[in-house]
Amino acid sequence: MKYVSTRGEAPVLGFDDVLLAGLAVDGGLYVPETWPELSSADVAGFAGRSYAEVGTRLMAPFLGGGIDEELMGGVLAEAYARFRHPAVVPLRQVGDNEWVLELFHGPTLAFKDVALQVLGRLFDAELTRRGERLTILGATSGDTGPAAIEACRDRNALDVFILHPAGRISEVQRRQMTSVSAGNVHNLAVEGTFDDCQDLVKAIFGDLALRERLRLSAVNSINWARVLPQAVYYLTAAVSLGGPSRPVTFSVPTGNFGNALAGWVARRMGAPISRLVVASNRNDIATRFLTTGVMELQAVHPTTSPAMDIQVSSNLERLLFELLDRHADQVARLMVDFGTTGRMEVPLERLAPLGDVFDTTKVDDDTVATAMGELYAASGHLVDPHTAVGLVAGRACRRDPTVPLVAMATAHPAKFPDTVEAATGVRPELPDHLADLFDRPERCTTLPCDIRIVRDYVVANARAGGAGGS
Ligand SMILES: *Cc1c(COP(=O)(O)O)cnc(C)c1O
Repeated sequence: MKYVSTRGEAPVLGFDDVLLAGLAVDGGLYVPETWPELSSADVAGFAGRSYAEVGTRLMAPFLGGGIDEELMGGVLAEAYARFRHPAVVPLRQVGDNEWVLELFHGPTLAFKDVALQVLGRLFDAELTRRGERLTILGATSGDTGPAAIEACRDRNALDVFILHPAGRISEVQRRQMTSVSAGNVHNLAVEGTFDDCQDLVKAIFGDLALRERLRLSAVNSINWARVLPQAVYYLTAAVSLGGPSRPVTFSVPTGNFGNALAGWVARRMGAPISRLVVASNRNDIATRFLTTGVMELQAVHPTTSPAMDIQVSSNLERLLFELLDRHADQVARLMVDFGTTGRMEVPLERLAPLGDVFDTTKVDDDTVATAMGELYAASGHLVDPHTAVGLVAGRACRRDPTVPLVAMATAHPAKFPDTVEAATGVRPELPDHLADLFDRPERCTTLPCDIRIVRDYVVANARAGGAGGS
């Protein structure tokens, strides 16, 4: 499989190069040249197969270069052996023809582990094959950082630097990062806000010579290799609920639109999916775009579902590319407009095909809290606030009660204990493997919000081209 950029001005690459490149050099996102298709017989044949087996089969046609089906099979088996549930992502019934798909049984209790545990291993395998090293740099407001660190720790080909705003993330989130003792993991607490951290990361990436020298890369969902593994659970969940003969509706709490895009990919390939509900919190750029065709930046409002408190849903660009019949020049024009003015618009009639797939709505914090309380009272189930956003939106958009509704449970309730306790009266407990989290020693360097100081720290400690080692 070859990959093209949504903006049409970057080289066509194979899977291994797309993995290492992340963002395309023209600012676009890589997408496969064609969409492989699964027949009904293929889908029926997945019944009873292990999660890693289905994943290997689904991903096989997307691979290439140094990463073949056998390597991927091994990576998936190893990555998902670390999950705390034999089904990897179990379904749990919470109501009448209503389920949650628990994506949080990985090491950091957030659904980001499902893809990042694969991504870290792929990076390491491919870089080792090439005899190269790479530096992962990112900013976190809480969830991505722990998952990225867990994915990259102790991988010799990678150094990882994660910036977080000092004193502004929860203690669980901080300790999940700072208690990791691996020598290639660098936690930087920046004296500033999350936006300051992001600006520092952008400024370092913006120094192209440095970016080249340190082989800087990112692990957010602009990377195709992070979106693809997420398509798998749409397929396995639909099959266990009766696919291919009985299609399922999924509701997806949405931030960067990576998860929802993975659902679109699964459906495009032939997974038995009726509809995809894009669930937003108050930060609803994806909902506004899907209903009006206008993509417009607004200020970020803090909510009780902070992993969705974002300004831009980057992966909408991949959907836009399909919507505009893969006219990369048009995508480039719209996205450049958006980059310079903070606004762009697609005529509503061009959006019409999306009506066959997506429903969307936004949910406010009070409704989320009420839903968490009611669910607990009715069924004894605790869900985290992100999951609750999806559940409420899925119910609101439901068209046919005979179609199973599956809400994506993207975080373990114990990641957001205060919000869960306020809504239900119950304080969720951390799973066993994190029970001693508050006793573990922490490793973290506090730095002022100063680009020169942060940059010098990264240069001094990165092994790829920096002064930090061999
Ligand atoms: C990242 C995240 C989301 C949003 O997923 P996207 O793929 O960015 O849309 C939702 N819930 C939780 C808990 C997350 O960590």
